[in-house]
Amino acid sequence: MQVFKFGGASVKDAESVKNSAHIISKYKVDALLVVVSAMGKTTNLLEDVTKAYHQNTGEAFEILEKAKAFHYNILSDLFEDSNHPIFDEIANCFVEIEWILEEEPQDSFDYLFDQIVSTGEIVSSKILAAYLNHIGVKTQWLDARNYIMTDNTYTEAQVNWEKTEAIIQAEIPKILSEYIGVTQGFIGSTSENFTTTLGREGSDYSAAIFAACLNAEHVTIWKDVPGVLNADPKWFEKTELIPELSYTDAIELTYYGATVIHPKTIKPLQNKNIQLNVRSFLNPEVPGTKIKSTNVSLPVPSFIFKVNQILISISPRDFSFIVEDNLRDIFNLFHQFRIKINMMHNSAINFSVAVDDTGQNILEVLDELKKKFKVNIETGLELITIRYYNQETINRVLVDKQVISELKDTYTCQLLVKKI
Ligand code: ASP
Repeated sequence: MQVFKFGGASVKDAESVKNSAHIISKYKVDALLVVVSAMGKTTNLLEDVTKAYHQNTGEAFEILEKAKAFHYNILSDLFEDSNHPIFDEIANCFVEIEWILEEEPQDSFDYLFDQIVSTGEIVSSKILAAYLNHIGVKTQWLDARNYIMTDNTYTEAQVNWEKTEAIIQAEIPKILSEYIGVTQGFIGSTSENFTTTLGREGSDYSAAIFAACLNAEHVTIWKDVPGVLNADPKWFEKTELIPELSYTDAIELTYYGATVIHPKTIKPLQNKNIQLNVRSFLNPEVPGTKIKSTNVSLPVPSFIFKVNQILISISPRDFSFIVEDNLRDIFNLFHQFRIKINMMHNSAINFSVAVDDTGQNILEVLDELKKKFKVNIETGLELITIRYYNQETINRVLVDKQVISELKDTYTCQLLVKKI
């Protein structure tokens, strides 16, 4: 049994859908579950619909029309017969959003986001499943909300592994013995049947959840890059493909911000010893990267760059030290405002963190922190992480940069820098 995951770029237009369907029919194994994201930039567009509705700007329907037109264009390129039932099916999915938009907005933004934005995955999976059947690949569409059971932390739902595993094991293997299954990434459901999402870019994680519960042999993530590279080509002219990667290195790299795989993806696979392949949908013959249990460490140093960082330096107003009770209060605030700490450093009377400068929630956490602490900030910084660093690699990234803070352990070096 295997799981394939296709992201938004691999289904961004009719040609891409055809290409993904071709990969599925060419590389399919006896039992295959396909997990697919929303098409192209649909998630962002539907997020804009949700914002417009929630803030009552009057533009929600107009933005929704753009999302509809985008999908109808793809549909008419894929299916010549405009009487094919998929046209009505997709129209009905969008009608469900329209029903929400017709009411006065009363619910929280996060709840509305999950109900509206999840439609992106529902429609893309329906289109892919219908197209596979259209070209003669026996496919069954599966609603991930019947399988991925979560709590009600909308936009960042936590998986109830016990319930999820039981229901997946009871129902999916028999379907996969007859059909290729096509389901959605990113979405799940509460016990009251409300749709939830697992965090942005969460479709990789969905693939890992299904694979872990099904005890799959492999998961393959099909991407527009040839595999895991030692740096994002956006930052480095010369990057190297890493053919084999240990789970630990993969977890560390994604934890520090390598965006090639969602950080939550690796752990469930490592626990079940399931190999994760990262391959190119543009070049499917090339083997890409294999992430598995191995003692081989990274063959080359890896670099992760995160721009738009803010350094927040916190010190007690009274004579207390940065010890457990102050730390507890600080961490609680970051948790409450859903801010992920990218780097931290403490001394007796100071605690500093570097975080993504995400705007409103940063302003809010700063206001809260200032009630108890003295707070200084520095914006516009860049965080560079090097896994398997040496002095040469450090020198290489510090050209025209001033180091504000640095942290080193045996394998990883983090440099918070400012452009000079
Ligand atoms: N469509 C979702 C997003 O753009 C999930 C994913 O693509 O992984 O965040």
